[in-house]
Amino acid sequence: MALITNAIKGTLDLLPKESYKTQYVEAAVREIAENYGFSEMRTPVFEHTELFQRSVGETTDVVQKEMYTFEDKGGRSITLRPEGTAGAARAFLEHGLFNDALPQKIYYLTSCYRYEKPQAGRLREFHQFGVESFGAGTPAADAEIISLAHAVFRYLGVQNLQLEINSIGCPECRKHFQDALKAYFTERREDLCDTCKSRLERNPMRILDCKSPVCSGIAAGAPKILDYLCDDCRAHFDAVQQYLRAMDIEFTVNPTIVRGLDYYTRTVFEFVSNEIGAQGTVCGGGRYDGLLEELGGKPMPACGFGMGIERLLLLMEAQGVPFPEPKKCDIYLVSMGEAAGLEAAALAEALREEGLSAQFDTVGRGLKAQMKYADKIGASYTVVLGDAELENRRVNLKAMRDGTQTELPLDDFVGAFQSIVLREALDVLDTSDLDEADISAILGGVQN
Ligand code: ATP
Ligand code: MG
Repeated sequence: MALITNAIKGTLDLLPKESYKTQYVEAAVREIAENYGFSEMRTPVFEHTELFQRSVGETTDVVQKEMYTFEDKGGRSITLRPEGTAGAARAFLEHGLFNDALPQKIYYLTSCYRYEKPQAGRLREFHQFGVESFGAGTPAADAEIISLAHAVFRYLGVQNLQLEINSIGCPECRKHFQDALKAYFTERREDLCDTCKSRLERNPMRILDCKSPVCSGIAAGAPKILDYLCDDCRAHFDAVQQYLRAMDIEFTVNPTIVRGLDYYTRTVFEFVSNEIGAQGTVCGGGRYDGLLEELGGKPMPACGFGMGIERLLLLMEAQGVPFPEPKKCDIYLVSMGEAAGLEAAALAEALREEGLSAQFDTVGRGLKAQMKYADKIGASYTVVLGDAELENRRVNLKAMRDGTQTELPLDDFVGAFQSIVLREALDVLDTSDLDEADISAILGGVQN
């Protein structure tokens, strides 16, 4: 068989055998975000190109070379979102959400597109879980979103992530810092990589973010932004740290963190692992008090983060973090003959209506092959339906675990089977405080 084409480089297919892991992570982040009072927002996968130029920033790597930009048939310049904040901020302004009670706390789980060199942890289509706290200007807000990311890692059982924080000040204090930085790097210009040579002209702070060993060596000796913070920015940064200590969240201050996007002010942070290679930043975020105004809204503070789902999964796999097993088939209905096939279909329907996972043959296999298939998909139980069973209205339920058989009435099969499944679930739980009457009451309640 010759495929007509392959998947595009830097994209991943999520296959059915693996999807439960991603679903588990997604369900966890949704639940945690909602516990923190964040509600989901969904925005389109594409936006007008200028939205990203304005918000992410003209001098960033993302806008300079990573965007998937194209002209649509109407001649408009369209870009596939490279990150989630710009679209969320656009929607926040467009729908007047600033008129609602502030802060507006939103989260998203979304695909992002960047034309980057594909490698482990770096894809052209990837997924982000992100949160934004619009209208929240105090250090408590920065600490709250950091705590949310921290809670996700704790819930999932991810270990050894370093939280690194920094403040990049406001445009005022940054100006003095940029000048000092430019002077420092200009003296060492010849040793910088080509990208950093051009960064030196456009935005010298970005050199601090360079992954090349030579540039990061030079960057280590560069002036530190923390020495240039104005009094307000200094007080804000101190208070963020105070909140983190109060919440018992460990962190280190890393003055080289500047983040890749232009819209950040004051707090920036990353959760970094050294267990998944060079692309070790699993989550990055910070404050961007200038963004909403930049997009045409009234000045309003905001902060948020983006977490890479694929990198998070890579890290979980690397650490052998357990994923809860996906729901298996409760019962496979083996059938022999046409009448039994119809009975199996009807029975599956009734079982599914009760929330049980039931399957029957849709391939036309014989008895043995159906049993084999039931075993392969990990069905907990099987039942065989043939002419004799239909006539006697009695069937044998087989537990695949140990082969034990229980005879059940066909006409009350759903109720009887449901009791067996529930009883097993109770056995797993600690029911030592319940007596037989309690259990019957629970089982009866469910059956009715
Ligand atoms: P990096 O320094 O790794 O390029 P970044 O600063 O460009 O990251 P952000 O724009 O802050 O990243 O995005 C937030 C998170 O999204 C990152 O921390 C990472 O987990 C994830 N991410 C970013 N780019 C990619 C990509 N190309 N493939 C997979 N995940 C990514
Ligand atoms: Mg990047």
